[in-house]
Amino acid sequence: MKIRTNNPLSVKRIEILAKKTREKFNISEDVFFPILDIVEQLSNEGILNLEICEDDELGEAVGLYIKDTNTIKIKESVYIDGLDGDYRTNFTLAHEYFHFLQNQVLKFDFVEVDDNEEIPAYSDPEWQANEFAGQLLIPTKYIGLSYEEISKLFHVTKECALTRQLYLKKRENRK
Ligand SMILES: [Zn+2]
Repeated sequence: MKIRTNNPLSVKRIEILAKKTREKFNISEDVFFPILDIVEQLSNEGILNLEICEDDELGEAVGLYIKDTNTIKIKESVYIDGLDGDYRTNFTLAHEYFHFLQNQVLKFDFVEVDDNEEIPAYSDPEWQANEFAGQLLIPTKYIGLSYEEISKLFHVTKECALTRQLYLKKRENRK
């Protein structure tokens, strides 16, 4: 089974959501978004639950969002790596944070579909979460910097910075 949302989002719309999220937490676009602190803050305020779990509990996944209990679960090793400054954790948390938004704030509708059904990217909750994570962590207006600069400035991995640049270029070429 795969999951599709009945609430498709365009890249432009996701960009607006990312901007609004930075505004909400008073984080300007020229600095890194402290997603670890923000998620911990929301957890302390009881807005969502953050659960650090044993590495084998999540299997292949590094993080997971559970709708029923409004919980972001994250692998212990990934969490500790994040505290140690591993930028991969930031993308993971930003991705899971978007699942929280989809469910609790935007109140999206989800349906289970057959594995062989083609889900358009815009209606794929995982695509939406990845796109949001990239947009939130790396504001579009700084995409012209080198990937090394983006990585250093926005606390994302070099791979993440490169992916965001290539994806944007691909989209612009299509216009
Ligand atoms: Zn996900």
